[in-house]
Amino acid sequence: MSHDHDDPRYPVKKTDEEWRKELSPMQYEVARHAATERPFSGAYWDHWDDGQYKCVGCGEVLFESTTKFDAGCGWPSYSEAASAEVVERIRDASHGMERVEVRCKKCGSHLGHVFPDGPEPTGERFCINSAAIDFKPK
Ligand SMILES: [Zn+2]
Repeated sequence: MSHDHDDPRYPVKKTDEEWRKELSPMQYEVARHAATERPFSGAYWDHWDDGQYKCVGCGEVLFESTTKFDAGCGWPSYSEAASAEVVERIRDASHGMERVEVRCKKCGSHLGHVFPDGPEPTGERFCINSAAIDFKPK
């Protein structure tokens, strides 16, 4: 799945060069090229402090620690986004699977996918790459 870097839908716009400069190589591959970090390899899959998780691309608050749960999958998992307004959902049929990609609505950075097998009351599981988010303690 490739990104259109000049996509006018996103208010935060940066050139490919700027993204490369501001992000680490891993963050860049995940956020700008929809790579997936290896399970159990990221900073936040087993991280349970109180606070907020922000977009590495633009600083938007995307997830709250209160919605984080242990899905046992090796990636940070949340039952909902900080608000429905901060994430964009896009149908993703890559890799022979039918999935829903999740992006930051402000800068278009790829975050991960959302699956319909999460805990109540939302029933959703946002499966997010640690490399796409930055934790800010409360
Ligand atoms: Zn963003």
